[in-house]
Amino acid sequence: MLTDKFGRNINYLRLAIVDRCNLRCTYCMPENGLTWIKQNELMTDEEMLRICSVFTEMGVNKIRITGGEPFVRKNSIELIRNISQLDGLTDISITTNGLLTEPYIPQLKKYGIKSINLSLDTLDKKRFFKITRRNSLDKVMKTLDSLLQHDIKVKINTVVMEGENTEDIIPLVMLTKDLPVDVRFIEEMPFNGSKTDISLKWNFTQIYNYIKEFFPEIQKADDPKSSTSYNYKIPGFKGDIGIIAAYTRSFCGDCNRIRITPSGILRTCLYEGTGVNLKDEIRMGRSNEELKNIIINSVHKKPKDGWEAQKSSLTASQIHQSMATIGG
Ligand code: SAM
Ligand code: SF4
Repeated sequence: MLTDKFGRNINYLRLAIVDRCNLRCTYCMPENGLTWIKQNELMTDEEMLRICSVFTEMGVNKIRITGGEPFVRKNSIELIRNISQLDGLTDISITTNGLLTEPYIPQLKKYGIKSINLSLDTLDKKRFFKITRRNSLDKVMKTLDSLLQHDIKVKINTVVMEGENTEDIIPLVMLTKDLPVDVRFIEEMPFNGSKTDISLKWNFTQIYNYIKEFFPEIQKADDPKSSTSYNYKIPGFKGDIGIIAAYTRSFCGDCNRIRITPSGILRTCLYEGTGVNLKDEIRMGRSNEELKNIIINSVHKKPKDGWEAQKSSLTASQIHQSMATIGG
């Protein structure tokens, strides 16, 4: 079992398989000018599979495939299939913007993907275009529909931003009335790939109070161990509501996760500027046992929380690194 110095068991790996994306969400990346990872710096399928396999041998039983947009990577469906077949894995899930996802859903179901996080910040076409800089709301809604038809659990991820989509909060909550989907409202983080600082107005409390004004009957629901969302339920509604305090970072105490970036960097905390590059270690000819020792040493130094991580390692440019290059 992989454990950090605070005794937290690390069993959850978030693997970003690509940094590129077919959307340009304003909170994640600028319209142009982001420096993409060069092809030879991107991990190959074999390297990703080997890293996942080493982690599962060390007790990781949950892997989330993310990016960038996972389905923009060539043959990502094959990679997902291969990862899903690793011994010891009990939970494999994907975070996607839903644009290219729909045709793959029957295969994803076959590979045992039980849960998909679908990013959807608004139900309004104009606001969708303003936020993502693309006109693709219809495709996302089609994907949502198909996921539900295939009985795959859907969690909608919504980043709440002042002046952008606060009028969508209640319509998104209303989605949970008749559909078995959970909607999770996320505090905006500074990882936007530009120099723009954010001043967080819609924090956990603001989001919660706003929903409670419309639904005074809102009740607390269970928060599974290591959950990043604080969960709630409107009585009689099919889905739950979650609020993720991603900026205020109040959930770090129970953290069970690590991240691998598309170029192979092991980040033991989202707010940590950098980490050891496992792909480089593989290309230096390291054996699996050597990789495991490198991983054990890195995980041992996992910061206590996002605040400690930020203080000790984030430079100004790392604070605004695009979420797509880290793996959200
Ligand atoms: N492209 C996929 C998607 O959008 O679902 C997966 C990658 S995306 C980086 C993963 C998640 O990170 C998305 O749900 C997105 O909303 C979230 N995210 C990206 N930038 C963020 C930011 N600055 N603050 C909070 N969440 C962010
Ligand atoms: Fe692409 Fe996801 Fe970032 Fe939006 S949040 S730009 S969909 S990687």
